[in-house]
Amino acid sequence: MFIKGKQKLDSAKGLDRESNGHAQAELAGQQAAAFPVRRLVTPGPRARALLARDAQVVSQAHGRPYPLVVAEGHGAQLTDVDGNRYIDFIAGIAVNATGHAHPRVVAAVQQQAARFLHVSADFYHEPWVQLAERLNSIRPFAEPARSFMCNSGTEAVEAALKLARYHSKRENFIGFLGGFHGRTAGALSFTSSRTVQRRGYAMMPGVTHIPYPDAYRPVLAAQPGDVDYGETVINYLEQVIFTRQVAPDTVAGILVESIQGEGGYIVPPASFFPRLRQLCDRHGILLICDEVQSGVGRTGKWWAIQHSGVEPDIVACAKGIASGVPLGVMLARASVSTWPPSAHGNTYGGNPLACAAALATLELVEECGLQNAQDTGAYIMERLRQMQTRHNCIGDVRGRGLMIGVDFVEDARTHKPAAALAERVEQLAFEHGLLLLTCGASTVRMAPPLLITRPEVEEGLAIFEHVVGMAAGELG
Ligand code: PLP
Repeated sequence: MFIKGKQKLDSAKGLDRESNGHAQAELAGQQAAAFPVRRLVTPGPRARALLARDAQVVSQAHGRPYPLVVAEGHGAQLTDVDGNRYIDFIAGIAVNATGHAHPRVVAAVQQQAARFLHVSADFYHEPWVQLAERLNSIRPFAEPARSFMCNSGTEAVEAALKLARYHSKRENFIGFLGGFHGRTAGALSFTSSRTVQRRGYAMMPGVTHIPYPDAYRPVLAAQPGDVDYGETVINYLEQVIFTRQVAPDTVAGILVESIQGEGGYIVPPASFFPRLRQLCDRHGILLICDEVQSGVGRTGKWWAIQHSGVEPDIVACAKGIASGVPLGVMLARASVSTWPPSAHGNTYGGNPLACAAALATLELVEECGLQNAQDTGAYIMERLRQMQTRHNCIGDVRGRGLMIGVDFVEDARTHKPAAALAERVEQLAFEHGLLLLTCGASTVRMAPPLLITRPEVEEGLAIFEHVVGMAAGELG
């Protein structure tokens, strides 16, 4: 199921040699022939029966994009209750870093379960300390790290917000339009990717949103001398927001996704994080990076912020860290983690099962996930860029490592989003055995397991190109 680094590199090199248009078309034809794409009967009868039961007893608050009813998963493949097989390019929303049911993660959880399941965060145990030590060894800043453990991304963000206020003795925050940080009250006050997520709820005061540096669809006009759109956004914060709306010496922290996830898989321009760091240093503001989706090797480095050379003060992490066992972590510089006992806490923090799963996950990511994210991510991006030359509706292909967005447009010149087309691609992909999710205005994201194999990638890309053609034919 899982292939070794050298093999991955060799096969990547072999396939990357094809570069001219004719060879590309030929290759695309061969790939399509190697992976014949067919429509599944989904949802099948067993899935339909379960959907009916779900509707009677499960809260329908969760937005579910298509009726996938899972029976089993291995590696980057899932089987549904009717026996349909799917290539998983979404990994439980960037969670199953090591794929489904990786034997080493399963064994770690089983061994820990046989010893003890829970003692509460009031006491001590080794897996918790071991995981904190391991996280300290991969921290994205020079100072030692202190880890606060919880159960989800939103809780990691809440912890970051509370620590920032506690440590700085300041009230205010800066967040970003298009950001997604979770659904609990504090994190939700920063979340602004879709109004449906905020409608009907009171927000925490003290949060000011500014545009995320989305150079593909900028909303601010560049000023003379700006090196790129990242600098435009920073200048707006400093020259407009900090002079008219919120004084910088009242700002505890700036909460920002290192790559914006739900907002559209947007990679900031090069100047953005270095300029943001300088601004934070100038005003004594904490830089809080939300790496819940982008962290733990997804981009080919442990943390996406490391691509910028900038050190944050606090990092929120969850999702991929424990391969699907719920775990959130807030890592802070030791000099920032100044809160005393009982200033924050929970019942399940450092849960032994989650720690065991995380330790096994981090080992696997280090052994081959980081390298595979780099190599396979580059390969998928290359293949998608080739597809872009064949399909006008693909406006942009962007991302880092295995965090990749394909932006669909109505007009390649104006970048007008083609939301219905992106949704149709998502739906048709499901019907043909490929799991994808949309994000942002009109982006289809790909965030497969970090250990995905090349044959799984080939099969997924063959289905993807097939359904892009179908969707464009229907809606174009
Ligand atoms: N932060 C980011 C960047 C996310 O993508 C998410 C979830 O998608 C969260 C926070 C919230 O995480 P959770 O759903 O585990 O609360």
